[in-house]
Formats: sequence, C-alpha cells, structure tokens
Amino acid sequence: MSIATVNPATGETVRTFDELSPEETERRIADAARAFTSYRTTGFAERADLLTRAAALLEAETEDIARTMTTEMGKPLAAARAEAAKCVKAMRWYAAHAESLLRDELPADADVRDSGASAVRTHYRPLGVVLAVMPWNFPLWQVVRFAAPALMAGNTGLLKHASNVPQTALYLGELFERAGYPHGCFQTLLIGSRAVEAVLRDPRVAAATLTGSEPAGRSVASVAGDEVKKTVLELGGSDPYVVMPSADLDRAVRTAVTARVQNNGQSCIAAKRFIVHADVYDAFAERFTAGMKALSVGDPMRDSTDVGPLATEKGRADLEELVEDAVSRGATVLCGARRPPEHPQGWFYEPTVLAGISPDMRIDQEETFGPVATLYRVEDLDEAVHRANHTPFGLSSNVWTRSDEDIARFVRDLEAGGIYINGMTASHPALPFGGVKRSGYGRELSGHGIREFCNVTTVWQSAD
Ligand code: NAP
Repeated sequence: MSIATVNPATGETVRTFDELSPEETERRIADAARAFTSYRTTGFAERADLLTRAAALLEAETEDIARTMTTEMGKPLAAARAEAAKCVKAMRWYAAHAESLLRDELPADADVRDSGASAVRTHYRPLGVVLAVMPWNFPLWQVVRFAAPALMAGNTGLLKHASNVPQTALYLGELFERAGYPHGCFQTLLIGSRAVEAVLRDPRVAAATLTGSEPAGRSVASVAGDEVKKTVLELGGSDPYVVMPSADLDRAVRTAVTARVQNNGQSCIAAKRFIVHADVYDAFAERFTAGMKALSVGDPMRDSTDVGPLATEKGRADLEELVEDAVSRGATVLCGARRPPEHPQGWFYEPTVLAGISPDMRIDQEETFGPVATLYRVEDLDEAVHRANHTPFGLSSNVWTRSDEDIARFVRDLEAGGIYINGMTASHPALPFGGVKRSGYGRELSGHGIREFCNVTTVWQSAD
C-alpha cells in the first residue's frame, strides 16, 4: 500500500509521501537505541514532566489534529476531537500514576525473606526500543495508549503507523520532540508493512506491539518469535451484545446503536453480534432497526453527521462481500445493505441490520469492520452464552440484564478480555484492555499495560 492521505469522504488523494529508505530507517533505529541509554536513567518526575508537556501541546492543538484525522480516515469530527481529549487524559493519567504502578514490590512470603537475604525486591526496568505497529481506526489513541506507558517506564519508541494516516503519524513523532523529549525517544518511521520485518529483526529493537488485523499480528508475532522478542497483540473482535428479558430495553436499544456505529462501525470493541432472548427479540429488533435507520450518514466534517465513510475503498468492498454472502445464503435485510445513493462519491455504506444468520455464512464467524449488525434469537441463558462464545475472537463483550444469576453466569463463562454489564465497552486508562483467543494477547492500559514492556527484575542481596 502506498503511503498517502486519501480523503475517504471524496476519494481524493490529498497528499502522497515517500517511504523512508533503509538507510534512513537504520539511522532512526540507531537514534532510538542511543536515546535509550540515557533516557532509561531518568527519574519518574522528569518523565512525567515531559509527558505532561506533550499532553498540553496536544490539548492546545486538538482542533487541527482532529481535522487531520477526519480527513485521513473519515471519523466524524466530534469523535476525532473526543479522541484527542481521551489521549490527553491518558497521558496525564500515566504521568501521575506510573511511579506508583512501577513501585518496587517486596515479597510477602516469609520463606523468601528467610532465604538468607538482607533485602529482596521486584524492580521494574525498561526493556529498550519498542516497535509499535498501529492501525488507522483510532490513529491518535492507539498510539498514545502504547506511547504514554512505554515512555513513562523508560523505553523509547518507534512508530510504524498505517499507511493511510501518514499526517497523523508525522504529527505524533513531532509532538514528543516538541514537548522536549530527547531526540530519538519517540520517532515515526514512514515505512510500508514489508519493511517491518527488518526493523523487528534488528538487535537494537527489544520488543513489539501490534494493533491491527489477525494476519498482520500473526506475521509480526512469528518474526518476533523467531527472534525471541516480547510482543503484545491487540487484534480483531466480534463482540457479543447480549440482551436478556430483564434488561432495560430502552437503554439497551439506544446503547446498541452507538455501540455498533461508533467510529463509523470500525472499532475493534464495537458490538457486532446482537444476541437477544426470544422474549424481547421482536421488540429489540424493531427498535434497534429504527435507530440504525434514523442515523445521519454523510460528510464527517459536519456536526450533524452520525456515520461517515469507511476509511478505505477496500474496507467497504470487504464489508459488502460479507453482506452479499450472507444475503445470498438467506439472511434477511432489516435495513441498509447498500451504498447510500445520495453519496455517490467516497466510501459510504448505510447502517445495516441483518437477521436470520446461519453457520454457513461468512459473517457468522468473521469480523464486520463497518456499520453492519447481525441479530441472533436465543431461547435461554445457556444458548446466549454458547452463541456469545461461538466466535474465534474474544476481545470484549456486553450483557444487558437485571438478574444477578445471569450476571454471575456471564462473568464466569464469557470468553473475552472484558465484560461490560448494562453498558457498552469503552477503554479507560485505569482499566486493563485486551483479548483472548484470536483477539490477541497481553494487555494495554492500567498497571498491566505499563508492565508489559518492563524487565521485571528480582533483586536479591545476601545478608552476609
Ligand atoms: P492491518 O491491515 O492489520 O493494519 C494494521 C497495521 O499493521 C498497519 O500499520 C499495517 O501497515 C500493518 N501491517 C499490515 N500487515 C502487516 C504485516 N504483514 N507485517 C507487519 N505489519 C503489517 O489492520 P487494519 O485492517 O488496517 O485495521 C483494522 C483491524 O485492527 C481490525 O481487525 C480491528 O479489529 C483491529 N483493531 C484492534 C484493536 C484492539 O485493540 N484489539 C484496536 C483497533 C483495531 P500498512 O497500513 O502499511 O499495511
């Protein structure tokens, strides 16, 4: 894929960029490694000061970077502003909390204390240069939720961003430099995915994190495995949204619409499969479909727009194929399933609801990365749990019920990294984020996220 800003609302190529040469890439790896040798010795107060300055710059520049994101990948401008604000919050959160999250731990066990040591502790040290391979869908947030903890832990970062968000990628590299970070602490590499392997195999690169599709994750993890380097993978999701008879149906329906179409439907943690108990299925289906139909699709720069275009032409084609396959095998279209005729330019797709999903349809097992919801009718709690887990993915999940018995069962049995009860999945700096099964491994955010790229070191000192 060439590196370019192509406006998905119009199809116009706004700007193209040259890929970094292998020599220039090598120079930046060397800069990152050199920066690490001194940056790793800085204290938390200094690191917090730098991150706080980066947060202030981003806050002041929200409007500009929000417009850039909307131009590059089509999210509604209000959502782009909210994304920038969320990044500012996470940077401040890690600036305030990293020191306590990485505080030395003392063993509680008396046997360890009796091991002949005068002192024993677990100490968190940075790993080194970490490569971050990132997607376009939350082009600021995905990067910041890696960069803020990684930098606070004393690592340095190299960003290989998605090829369709180069201006956001360049902005991020410059943001940290302008905030005062020593040169090399955080740099953007404008490279295509084929150049990732060489960077990852470089002995100066210690670890990698990838947020993106399963094929990309598999490729990066296999190279890293070959090099015995640590990875964190945040991959796709097909989150269930389960509605049981005791649910507050008004809230469940309203939230369902938002949960499905947030970010034009292109969120890993969007609710994608709506699993509804037979007692409330008809009412839910009718009201949810009405909510999806009522959304305004159009120019993402306008405040009145709920759903903008898909980010890439290929992304829309992939989504259309999934819907066409389902319809050809008997799925019922409750709304959408077409390009909006009033928007012939750009990569728009109408919010879509499909019912009557069967196992022979690709959509039953694949991720729908766009505003397409599938509806399933289930007879009881057992079937709801089975249906929710009947997916290769395990990122997050949403359940709507007022029954304690239902809640206990979902918390025990849902195969997912998150369970959101009577609300929709959302990431927060203080809460661990990540999945199981084909959704990846490792965690971002919270104390778990900051410790992923640390050398957890046992320090034992003899009493003699
Ligand atoms: P993608 O094609 O996998 O791209 C993601 C990143 O990986 C881009 O920087 C891409 O570079 C790079 N890449 C692609 N193939 C690669 C390879 N073989 N080796 C190394 N790097 C490679 O993902 P996408 O389709 O743009 O993004 C959507 C996916 O991301 C969805 O599946 C979504 O669910 C997932 N996602 C997951 C999370 C999470 O937290 N779990 C969050 C957001 C998105 P190029 O752009 O240059 O190809």
